[in-house]
Amino acid sequence: MHTDHDMIIVGGGMVGASLACALADQGMRVAVVEAVPLRADSQPSYDERGIALSQGSARILQSLGLWDLISDKAPIKQIHVSDQGHMGVTRMDSRREGVEALGYVVIARTLGQALARRLEQLPSLELICPARVVGLHCSPEGANVRLEQEGKVRELSASLIVVADGGQSSSREQLGIASQVWEYDQSAVIANVSPQNDHQGVAFERFTRSGPLAMLPMTPEPDTGRPRCSLVWTRRNDEVEQTMALGPTEFLDKLEQTFGLRLGRLTRVGERHVYPLRLIRAREQVRARLAVIGNAAHTLHPLAGQGFNLGLRDVAVLAEVLVDGRGRGEDLGDENLLQRYAQWRKPDHNRVIAFTDGMVRLFSNPLAPVALARNLGLVGLDLLPPARSWLARQAMGLGGRLPRPARGLAL
Ligand SMILES: Cc1cc2nc3c(=O)[nH]c(=O)nc-3n(C[C@H](O)[C@H](O)[C@H](O)COP(=O)(O)OP(=O)(O)OC[C@H]3O[C@@H](n4cnc5c(N)ncnc54)[C@H](O)[C@@H]3O)c2cc1C
Repeated sequence: MHTDHDMIIVGGGMVGASLACALADQGMRVAVVEAVPLRADSQPSYDERGIALSQGSARILQSLGLWDLISDKAPIKQIHVSDQGHMGVTRMDSRREGVEALGYVVIARTLGQALARRLEQLPSLELICPARVVGLHCSPEGANVRLEQEGKVRELSASLIVVADGGQSSSREQLGIASQVWEYDQSAVIANVSPQNDHQGVAFERFTRSGPLAMLPMTPEPDTGRPRCSLVWTRRNDEVEQTMALGPTEFLDKLEQTFGLRLGRLTRVGERHVYPLRLIRAREQVRARLAVIGNAAHTLHPLAGQGFNLGLRDVAVLAEVLVDGRGRGEDLGDENLLQRYAQWRKPDHNRVIAFTDGMVRLFSNPLAPVALARNLGLVGLDLLPPARSWLARQAMGLGGRLPRPARGLAL
């Protein structure tokens, strides 16, 4: 069967672009269709957000030739978990776990720059951008997409279409793939914040009455060298407007009341953005000539910093299965081949979704018995090394089935 490409990836966000790097590096003819220029200041996938990466994700990015291209990487040396107004505190420490770092924080924008540079280096890759996919067709006989670029419509064919167009995936809808959606009635307010004291590589996770608050260590401010943290502050939807309307000083005061003075006074806050929070899970991950990955397959609450880590494991496993299948002369769009990917990923998806959703619900519940139970849980975690170690392993992305070493990708 003649096709324009081996594969068309819809969406060049963190997950789609990473998959393109993995497969074009193996000589596959890959097209990526992305609606917003990757280096544009307005690119929402690559904004100023701090993204916590597990050790497993760092390994995958290394194998894709991306790790050394990322300019800002702050190691997470410790994780400090606490519950506002209650006694429980637990700490995870890289030294105690015998690793150099529990994970790393990178800025989404610098990750986007690294991906854009890597994509430019790959000769078998065509980046079609800015362009928007407006129609898709997949069947055992063939697959094609219709896209709009500069007012013109183009049709492209491929052996396989990978949908990686994010949580609000229009491709999922066009293909009639149903999804389950749970609204948390919460939104994340994110901003970069400068504290008075150095964070010393500590990532703080604090459970508050309106939802969890994360303060992640970042590399220092480039212009002043002052310490910098990435804030993800979950607010109830009825609080968000008021929080965003606060001036910088009032915002920092309010934040200090919730976070405390663990890092001294908070002295500066950058641009603030709001993300509505919901859990979305696509009911189908694969069909003949189709795979759905990343946020398009599963959008999580950012509480545990697992969304991209999970999507990157989709990338590693899909690349492994496709490279393996091609080596055996299999058709890349064959449904049995793609089912191998879906079956391999299912336990990891189930585990991470259950873990993240369970944490959100447990720590958003103000009922006294639940608060007591979770505080006993936190105290217990600090006293019980195996439990603490388990939580640290989840945070490092080592808790589930990681991709086994791949022949093609040297993961
Ligand atoms: C506040 C916040 C903090 C987070 N922190 C972490 C963290 O610490 N660690 C972690 O692992 N994860 C974190 N996440 C999750 C992480 O950001 C996402 O899981 C990840 O960005 C998903 O990437 P994606 O490529 O699947 O989707 P997206 O980033 O949404 O990319 C989709 C891309 O598809 C493009 N697109 C859409 N429709 C079309 C179309 N029709 N045609 C062409 N292109 C199209 C879009 O322009 C976009 O570039 C966080 C999320 C939030 C909201």
